[in-house]
This record gives sequence, C-alpha cells and structure tokens, in this order.
Amino acid sequence: MKRKFIDFHTHFFPENFQRAIYDWFETYGWGIHHRFTFEESISYLKSSGYEKWVVAVYAHKKGVADFLNRWVGEAGKKYGEIIPFGTVHPEDEDPEKVVERAFKDYGVKGIKFHTHVAGFPPEDERLFPAYEKILKYNGLLLLHASHHPTDAGLLKNYDPGKLSGAEHVEPLLIKFPGLKIIVAHLGMGEYDRFASLMDLYPDLYLDTTMVHCMDRVKIKHPETPPPPPDSFMEKYADRILLGSDFPFIPYPVEEQIRCIEKLNISDEAKEKILYRNGRRMVR
Ligand SMILES: [Zn+2]
Repeated sequence: MKRKFIDFHTHFFPENFQRAIYDWFETYGWGIHHRFTFEESISYLKSSGYEKWVVAVYAHKKGVADFLNRWVGEAGKKYGEIIPFGTVHPEDEDPEKVVERAFKDYGVKGIKFHTHVAGFPPEDERLFPAYEKILKYNGLLLLHASHHPTDAGLLKNYDPGKLSGAEHVEPLLIKFPGLKIIVAHLGMGEYDRFASLMDLYPDLYLDTTMVHCMDRVKIKHPETPPPPPDSFMEKYADRILLGSDFPFIPYPVEEQIRCIEKLNISDEAKEKILYRNGRRMVR
C-alpha cells in the first residue's frame, strides 16, 4: 500500500515575508530547492502524497505575530490540508491576548516559537500566560529548542546556548503539565538529554526536521551533529513526528521521507513517524 504522509513542520508566510526569508537563507544558509509560491507548495505536497501538513509562522520581532496568525488561520480555513500554527513574541504588547485570538478567532491548532529567531528562551516569564492559553485550547507548542544552527552567519545576535537546549524545555514541562510540546529537529545534538526527558514527560514529542538528511548542509556547516542512533528512533517512534522545514531546505521535500525510509527500524515505527502519529495529533 502506498504510504501517506503528515508533515508537522513546514513554513509559509505572506508573500513579502516569504521572499525575504528565501533571500535570507540563500545568503546565510543554503540554496532553496523549491522556491515555491504558497499555491504551488500546496499542489506539490498534495501530489506527493502528503495528506495534511502543519504550516507554521514565527515572529522575528514584536508586533507582527497577530498579523501572521490571521494569515495562517485564513490559509487553514481555505485549504483543508493545512494545519495552521501561529506564533507569539515575548515582547508583544499582550502575548496572552495574541495567543487567545490566534486560537479563538483565527482557528490555529498550535503555536510555534523559535528561540533563535525571537532571541528569547522559551522559559521567558512573559510567555507563561500565553502557554496557559495554549493549554486552554488544547493546542500544541512547536519549539525550536536545538543549539543548532550555531554558525555566526546564521546567528549574528544571540548565543544559542543561552536560549535553547533541553535545559530550557524542562522548565516548561514541569510548569505546564499537559501542554504538548513538540521539539523540532529531534533536539539536534542533545539526543541523550532529550531521551531522558522523553522518558519522564509523556507530553513531549519530537519532530524529524532535517536531522537525517544533513549531508548537503554539512558541506557549508560542518559543525552539524550526526543523527541519533536508530535505536532512539525505534524507542520513541510513538512520539516522533515527520517534519521537514519545507520549503526552507536545500533538497527536495521527499528527501526527508527517503531518509526515514532508509533507517534500520521497523516498518511500524516508520509508519507511525511518517503518518500515524500526525493523524492522532490532529484529530
Ligand atoms: Zn522550522
């Protein structure tokens, strides 16, 4: 039987934001493989077997989250395949209200917070009321919590060690029991520490974004850590979600699926990661 896929980590923004981010990646990161418009991205993923996918926005500064949330919420209403994830910035005038509106008025299903881009750690107290709102609406929190990328070109202003890593995720797991947190990139580079957290906290999830297909990225970014052992993928297969960072990647989006298919793990684990866990999460 042909597999279907649910991708829990893609991005799209209003057109001018999207263009600026494409340009940023091409300057500091890597060449964008699919420099798609939003509509092109939808037909491409549909025709490639993706049943649904998260489209996540994120805010690089205060005051833009609400605009982005409205945009992504509308996209979710227009296209049934899209699971819209909004965002919030700790310097927003009222982060709690931004999140409340995102769920109540715009219909987002989760919130994405990118520590490196925002420049604040996830345990910033100004975000606590926002996390309470995510819990209230039974939403999901997608968190970039890896120290990587670390190179200076990507990160001009922040020390990622102070903003991200497992030690910045655990305080949220302790303070907000029941809050479902998805850590992007399998927590790249800190697999042992995230494994301990996975053992302790049943509401912690991981996504696969880019981890097993960094060969092309590594040429320019040699500090990129290797993927976790396959035993890690098998052990936590019930709480690992397919994620890709599409379209901000230097290879075809299907490469992420091929990388998972190639792992030496059970077919059941692959099916859970590529599809079934996602299905369960968005019901
Ligand atoms: Zn991302």
